[in-house]
Amino acid sequence: MAILILLNQVDPTLLESKLKQFDDCPEVRIYPDCGNKDDIECVIVWKHDEGVLNDFPNLKLIASYGAGVENILSDPSLPEGVPITRFVDDTLSDQMAEFVLAAILNHRLHLTYYREQQAASHWRPMDFLTGKNVTILGLGELGSTTAKLLDVNGYSVSGWSRSEKNIDNVKSYYGDDQLNASVAGADIVVCLLPLTPTTKHVLNADLFAAMKKGAFLINVGRGDHLKEDDLMNALSSEHLSGALLDVFATEPLPTDHPFWRHPKIHVTPHISSPTDKGRVARQILDNYNRIKSGADPLNQVDPKRSY
Ligand code: NDP
Repeated sequence: MAILILLNQVDPTLLESKLKQFDDCPEVRIYPDCGNKDDIECVIVWKHDEGVLNDFPNLKLIASYGAGVENILSDPSLPEGVPITRFVDDTLSDQMAEFVLAAILNHRLHLTYYREQQAASHWRPMDFLTGKNVTILGLGELGSTTAKLLDVNGYSVSGWSRSEKNIDNVKSYYGDDQLNASVAGADIVVCLLPLTPTTKHVLNADLFAAMKKGAFLINVGRGDHLKEDDLMNALSSEHLSGALLDVFATEPLPTDHPFWRHPKIHVTPHISSPTDKGRVARQILDNYNRIKSGADPLNQVDPKRSY
C-alpha cells in the first residue's frame, strides 16, 4: 500500500523526505511514477490535473497539501465517497495572524514609504495612521486567530462569516445581508475567506463602495476573491487608499501585470502562511492511520458547502 504525492508548483521531494522520517509511513511515490495504481490508498494533492484522482481504484483519502481546497473541489470527476481533508494547524494560523498584523503595521507606520524615501535620501517624517478598525472577512481557523491577535494589539475587530460567531471583543456579522455593514466602519479590510462559488469576486465594486473612503484592503485568501478591474478603479478614484495582495488569479503574477508597478499596491508572492512540510506530513499520516483503523479522518471538507 502506498501514498502518492501529486503536487504542482511545489517541490514534492521535500514533502517525501518529511513523510519518510516517520516510522509509520507506508511506501511513498511521486506522481507521475505511480507504480501499480491499485496500491495507492492516499493522494496528497495541490493543483492536480482534472480527472487524475479517478485512476486509483483503492483510494481511501484525498489530502490537501494546504488549507484551501478549491482546486480539489473544482474537479468535476472526483471519485465518489472518498473523504477529502485539508491542513488545519495552529502554526499555519499563527503565521497568517502575524503576517496580517505586519501588513497592517507596515501600512499604518508607512514603512515601505520610508524605504522608498531612503533610496532618494529624503528625510520626510509622517504621522502614523490612527484608524484601527479592522474587519476580517472569514472568521474560520485563520480569521479567528488573526482577529484575536489584532484584538490584543489594540485593534477594534469585526468579522464576517456564514454563521454567527462568539469571539471575545470581536463583533460578529454574518450572512450575505450583513456583508456591507461589516465593512462600513473599517479602516482595513482583510479577506480570509475560502474560495467557493459564492465567495468568488466578493471583493468587488459594490463592496468597495460600502467601505469608507481611504480604507485599505488586504487579500490573503485567494486571487479569485478579487475583481481586479474594480480594485484598479477604486484606487484611481482614491476611494481606497491602497492594497496589499498576497494571492492572485494567475500565479506567479505575470511580469506584465499592472499590479507589479502600481504605486498603491503592495505585492507579496503568496507567502502569508506557507505550509510546514513536517507538520502537514504528520497530520496526513495520522489521518491515514485513522482511516486504516476504521475511524473518520480529522479536518474533513464538506463538498456541499465547498470548504
Ligand atoms: P475555514 O474553513 O476555517 O474558515 C472559513 C471562514 O469563511 C469561516 O468563518 C466561514 O464561515 C467563512 N465563509 C465561507 N463561506 C462564506 C460565505 N459564503 N459567506 C460568509 N462567510 C463565509 O478556512 P481557513 O481559515 O482555514 O482558511 C481560509 C482560507 O485562507 C483558505 O481557504 C485559503 O484560501 C486561504 N489561505 C491562504 C494562505 C496564504 O498563504 N495566502 C495560506 C492558507 C490559507 P463559517 O465559520 O460560518 O463556516
